[in-house]
Amino acid sequence: MKLLYLGTAAAEGIPALFCECEACQKARALSAKGVHTRSGAMLDGTFKIDFGPDSYKQMLDNGLSYAYVHSVLVTHSHEDHLDVDELQLRRGTFAQITTTEKLMTVYGNERVGEKVRRHECEYFRFQLLRPFETVQIEGYGVTPLEAVHCISKDSGLYPVIHEGTQYFRSEEAFIYLIEKDGKRLLYGHDTAKLTQKNFDFLKGKRLDLVSLDCTNGFLETKWVGHMGAKDNLLMKERLIVNGSADEKTIFVANHFSHNGYPGQKELEALMPGFLIAYDGMEVEF
Ligand SMILES: [Zn+2]
Ligand SMILES: [Zn+2]
Ligand SMILES: [Zn+2]
Repeated sequence: MKLLYLGTAAAEGIPALFCECEACQKARALSAKGVHTRSGAMLDGTFKIDFGPDSYKQMLDNGLSYAYVHSVLVTHSHEDHLDVDELQLRRGTFAQITTTEKLMTVYGNERVGEKVRRHECEYFRFQLLRPFETVQIEGYGVTPLEAVHCISKDSGLYPVIHEGTQYFRSEEAFIYLIEKDGKRLLYGHDTAKLTQKNFDFLKGKRLDLVSLDCTNGFLETKWVGHMGAKDNLLMKERLIVNGSADEKTIFVANHFSHNGYPGQKELEALMPGFLIAYDGMEVEF
């Protein structure tokens, strides 16, 4: 499999839309090299993960055509991961799709479904996924695992146990285990530390690439529902103990915020053994 990181930032991007902080000024000065657009990835050229507001720029930057994308796997409904206004430009006169299958299927949780179903037509449709139930999509085995994201302590339909405490989620956010030809990818955005239930499911399943949420960067936890550098290092240790990773497993930190992002080299120094994602980075495994 080949995973192409199209966008590697959290909701506000780096530089952030309205921000004057040091990290954003540095990113602006570096021009294209310092830019991290909103989160999204492409697997093997046509299998899309998330469809955020920077999908158009990412198409241009990477020489892609989304006409050939027939499956979009959505992690959760946050606007940096799912921009339905952009997605619906696949229909009608906005796009002339003549040489390939018109229909695109968008996979995700119920909240994603609410957003996508409003625009359903012959060009795209929604398919609901359930946690820990594997489905086959274009030759990939896809299993949604539970994300610790969209959480609060007292309200929400979807409970999750995070570090021994019960939380509730406003939607059933997913991270994904994706398997093909004996290779395994864990796409872990957005989430806080992996839950015990996830570790149990992954027990003995050796992962080839693990991509982890690093929104908090060098900061001690600032946003709940995300991880930082220290959490990522801890997850690596625990996945190895769990029999889900070894010295050959590739670990990637991704989904950064300007608040905790010190720069590529600086984060590399803080996170030995991790690749630090940047827009346009491709990892083959
Ligand atoms: Zn996000
Ligand atoms: Zn900033
Ligand atoms: Zn999110």
